[in-house]
Amino acid sequence: MITSTNRAAIVTGSSRGIGAAIARRLASDGFAVVINYAGSAGAAATLVDEIEKAGGRAIACQADVGDPQAVKRMFDAAEAAYGDVDVLVNNAGIMTLAPVAQMDETAFDRTIAINLKGTFNGLREAANRLRDGGRIVNFSSSVVGLYQPAYGVYAATKAAVEALTHILAKELGSRGITVNAVAPGPVATELFLDGKDQATLDRIKGMNPLGRLGEVDDIARVVALLVGPDGGWINGQIVRANGGVV
Ligand code: NAP
Repeated sequence: MITSTNRAAIVTGSSRGIGAAIARRLASDGFAVVINYAGSAGAAATLVDEIEKAGGRAIACQADVGDPQAVKRMFDAAEAAYGDVDVLVNNAGIMTLAPVAQMDETAFDRTIAINLKGTFNGLREAANRLRDGGRIVNFSSSVVGLYQPAYGVYAATKAAVEALTHILAKELGSRGITVNAVAPGPVATELFLDGKDQATLDRIKGMNPLGRLGEVDDIARVVALLVGPDGGWINGQIVRANGGVV
């Protein structure tokens, strides 16, 4: 019988932010976790240490999710450490804001490479290698719904991730693998806070019926549900975890 105590989860982009909170939560729920990162080796090592001291199992794995070979190697490392992989949380992502008229081509290509191709690279590997009965959670954003100016390219990558989520759920259902996406509203992480002044933050808080920004644990709890024993009947869905902003 597969329980959370003998299941393994890869969480992409889990050295910081929402991903780190997800890795912490899944480890405390009994998953052996892979802490993936692009450049933050120190932060990933510190999180591995913290999880192990709390009695959990974790390894750190550098891989740029935009590089298919690196993603393959990450799955190889996970299988070498834990046997089969049960869960992929495709959390790694970046955001560059600019109106379409001013969007820089390099930033456009990088956003596609990490948010869309990076998610696809993980999905293709997971579709071939996840254990039957596994779970996949992608990361969209509630900007798909809010459609604010300057979010065009970022929102476009997340809309594409939502389409992949719906279709892969249909492709993998016969193996008992669920595929969902979480679409957070604003969450207090570097990705969201960078470059915003206090007045902007106050305005964004004011848009939310619950009057605050999301916290990383608000989102980790949703992922824990989707990959845990109570989430098995949720499939092909986009969960807008955002306090009601849209
Ligand atoms: P964050 O604080 O900026 O953290 C990003 C994480 O992704 C870091 O661990 C980073 O690793 C990793 N990463 C970046 N590029 C990578 C790459 N090429 N390969 C592997 N890892 C990479 O971001 P966050 O706010 O936690 O966002 C997590 C996810 O939630 C993203 O998909 C984002 O679009 C989505 N989201 C966030 C918000 C929000 O308000 N924060 C709202 C909606 C959706 P390094 O530390 O090594 O750079």
